[in-house]
Amino acid sequence: MQWFRQLFKRDKPEIPEALWQQCQDRLPFLAQLPAPDLARLKTLCETFLDRKTFTGAAGVELTDRIAVLIAAQACLPVLNLTLDLYADMAGIIIYPGSFVIAQSEMDEAGVVHEWREPVSGEAVHAGGAVILSCEDIEDIEAPGYNVVIHEFAHKIDMRDGTANGCPPFLVAYHKDIRAEHWQREFSAAYRDFVARVDALDAQLPEDFDADHPADAAMYDELFAELPLDPYAARHPAEFFAVASEAFFVGPAPLAEDYPEIYRLLTLYYLQDPLHWQNAPCGKETGGKHL
Ligand SMILES: [Zn+2]
Repeated sequence: MQWFRQLFKRDKPEIPEALWQQCQDRLPFLAQLPAPDLARLKTLCETFLDRKTFTGAAGVELTDRIAVLIAAQACLPVLNLTLDLYADMAGIIIYPGSFVIAQSEMDEAGVVHEWREPVSGEAVHAGGAVILSCEDIEDIEAPGYNVVIHEFAHKIDMRDGTANGCPPFLVAYHKDIRAEHWQREFSAAYRDFVARVDALDAQLPEDFDADHPADAAMYDELFAELPLDPYAARHPAEFFAVASEAFFVGPAPLAEDYPEIYRLLTLYYLQDPLHWQNAPCGKETGGKHL
């Protein structure tokens, strides 16, 4: 963490080239970015690292590498927008592994169910911190799966209040998006995706046990036909966050199954990952992130 600490003492913080290269090696989807965009991303990361507070929790010792890895993934979605979308973020907290948080949900009968479950990332609430785990910052091998981008997509979504799958449309950047069109298209795609997940769920045996390796393999095979992690069916806000992470790290299945959602995301992020110089591809895989 020595270099990162020094950042605050410098007039012009700069990520050392060797460290930036390490970060690119670890995040293969960055290799698809055109060179000028990659250079702008580095500059944006330096500003982000200068502005935001990183805190290690439960014994995590922050390293420069972890800080730069997070910054690169947090800054990618706003590369052609503005860091102001993260202006209300209190900071970034990093745990060693998945952490347990209290959850609650009201069912159709109005009964509130409360439980605790392990999660790997959480964008707490508008104005709050983003919580990540070292495990998920490091474990980015699964194509289409990226907890850091997912959580920062939630932060963008929350910038105008609660996370609802409809991020703020900025006058300076989003003149080509009509809010009604966005809401109509995202609602329709979400409903379709939920129906697809429900249909697959119905094919699982009654005694299905996700912790059993054979059952887990069956689940993966069955749900592999989906263009997104089935977690996207949980809530419209999750659909937006999961679609955003897939958009950047494995956009082909999303663009194929939900082309209008892909197009709207190109208009929102002002990027077109499918047509970066070596377009990445891949599918969402399992993982839990709020
Ligand atoms: Zn989420």
